[in-house]
Amino acid sequence: MTQTPAFDKPKVELHVHLDGAIKPETILYYGRKRGIALPASTAKELQDFIGMDKPLSLPGFLAKFDYYMPAIAGCREAIKRIAYEFVEMKAKEGVVYVEVRYSPHLLANSKVEPISWHQAETRLPYLEGASLTVGMVQAAETQDPKRRGGRARWGPPGPPMTWLLPFQEAVRSNIHRTVHAGEVGSAEVVRAAVDTLKAQRLGHGYHTVEDEALYKRLRQENMHFEVCPWSSYLTGAWKPDTQHAVVRFKNDRANYSLNTDDPLIFKSTLDTDYQMTKRDMGFTEEEFKRLNINAAKSSFLPEGEKRELLDLLYHAYGMPPSAAAGTFPSELLGARLARLSVGLRARCPPFLSWVAPRMCDDSLGTSPWLVAASH
Ligand SMILES: [Zn+2]
Repeated sequence: MTQTPAFDKPKVELHVHLDGAIKPETILYYGRKRGIALPASTAKELQDFIGMDKPLSLPGFLAKFDYYMPAIAGCREAIKRIAYEFVEMKAKEGVVYVEVRYSPHLLANSKVEPISWHQAETRLPYLEGASLTVGMVQAAETQDPKRRGGRARWGPPGPPMTWLLPFQEAVRSNIHRTVHAGEVGSAEVVRAAVDTLKAQRLGHGYHTVEDEALYKRLRQENMHFEVCPWSSYLTGAWKPDTQHAVVRFKNDRANYSLNTDDPLIFKSTLDTDYQMTKRDMGFTEEEFKRLNINAAKSSFLPEGEKRELLDLLYHAYGMPPSAAAGTFPSELLGARLARLSVGLRARCPPFLSWVAPRMCDDSLGTSPWLVAASH
């Protein structure tokens, strides 16, 4: 029997990884088609093998990607398919706007070093790979060398100097920026993400609350926290015998969203995160509305489209519209998801011509943005 959704209204999701949101059936299909060995032969077995039911260490979680990404990485057709299936998945979850992130260099199979999963070298270079997905994201490498099976190139935790240049360039080019920080790292990592990398949003950010002065400052600056409750349980980023930071965020009426992070591995949907916060943390319908409106306000959409998205939510939530803009019949919601998710609109600033020139194809329409760290 299907569970009643915890919040059966349009939702906004800002933190989900494309390579952590793939259908097991698709992994099997491309494993067979490409002759790549997988640890299971049915979708159910594969889901059980990859998925987590109980907390694992962060390296244990990240090792999961090694089992299945070789079936997808380096294959243009597979990358395109997982992107379309991702949009379909989110539409079914009632998500009307999603910002999905991915790492083009991890999916490439030429002109990158190292090649992440030893995918056979052919003709899918990093920059070309960037043009293939539905999403709008450019990801930098992880900040922790233990993650990604030790293959990450960057140094110790904290914003490495290697990142500084691309982030400075992103600031100069007016490209939006979100940084994973304070997931398992300390509040100091959060401070560095904000002050050094000029993050506009924080991926996770839970440990910010351990530094009251920093937390107070970020609240005053209306910093957005991309919270992933179920993920934080399974990765050990949150210890269940302590109060989850999202409860503090709720009580303080801070600016945050609820997100899945890697639903394939966490065997979850967005409803899992809403159920968890409703059942275990006392979240109400009103709080779900408030956090989704904050998510829309903190999205990286251009202002005009952000206003449209907000009006859509106000309409769906039965709240007074924020402006005199039009209303949005429910049949437009699905179409809007596809349009917004596929979109690449802005003209290519100089930075993107270095990172991902194909993302700036005007025919696709997108607002490019920059992400640091992997999961
Ligand atoms: Zn993440």
